[in-house]
Amino acid sequence: MKRQFAVIGLGRFGGSVCCALIEQGVEVLAIDQCEAKVNQYRDVVTHAVVADSTDEQALRHLGIRNFEHVIVAIGDNIQASILTTLILDELGVEHITVKAQNDYHEKVLVKIGAERIVHPERDMGARIAHHLMSKNVLDYLEVSDKYSIIEMFAGSKMHAKTLVELNVRASFGCNVMAIKRGAEMIVSPKADQLIQQDDLLIVLGADEDIKRFEQMFD
Ligand code: ADP
Repeated sequence: MKRQFAVIGLGRFGGSVCCALIEQGVEVLAIDQCEAKVNQYRDVVTHAVVADSTDEQALRHLGIRNFEHVIVAIGDNIQASILTTLILDELGVEHITVKAQNDYHEKVLVKIGAERIVHPERDMGARIAHHLMSKNVLDYLEVSDKYSIIEMFAGSKMHAKTLVELNVRASFGCNVMAIKRGAEMIVSPKADQLIQQDDLLIVLGADEDIKRFEQMFD
């Protein structure tokens, strides 16, 4: 049997989650109280239904409890997002991911059983800012409040040097976890690995160390 996911709220974020899940080959039930939104996704997802997710009976009838993972992608209506999450938790849904609008919203969501909370706008803002600050940084991922991972083009300053010569670990405290070179992937590169200008380095480190590393090799 295919894995089953449900997405509640078909705004830009919820809609894009639906499309990505379908591409991953899973079944998706899409729910929105707005009929126009539901019609927009009818041909994309497995099932699309008009329902108010703050109505416990409506969720019960949809058999929401049987879904492996429910994503609450309700945007501005924080009250509806919180109530929906609470109902899902009470109905016994095992995995609940919720989009948070702000830190207060997140605090409440943690208390009422959301397993995972996402901040798409905030995270995307941080990723784009790193890209804007350094022309070589392609992507940025926060892994905790102190550590992050960046994808960074090697650039001319690194060309034909080894990781030891670049002092990545000794001077910057950063770890190059992998190097993408065209279609090739060099995982856990050795210290004597030579870097080429167009290599894409995947680097893990503390935020301040990553920042120094980005600036040094920009
Ligand atoms: P985004 O910022 O991702 O575009 P929006 O706030 O525009 O998010 O969209 C949220 C969606 O959630 C809207 O389509 C809205 O109709 C839907 N929605 C809001 N409250 C409920 C609810 N109680 N039940 C079902 N859908 C809801």
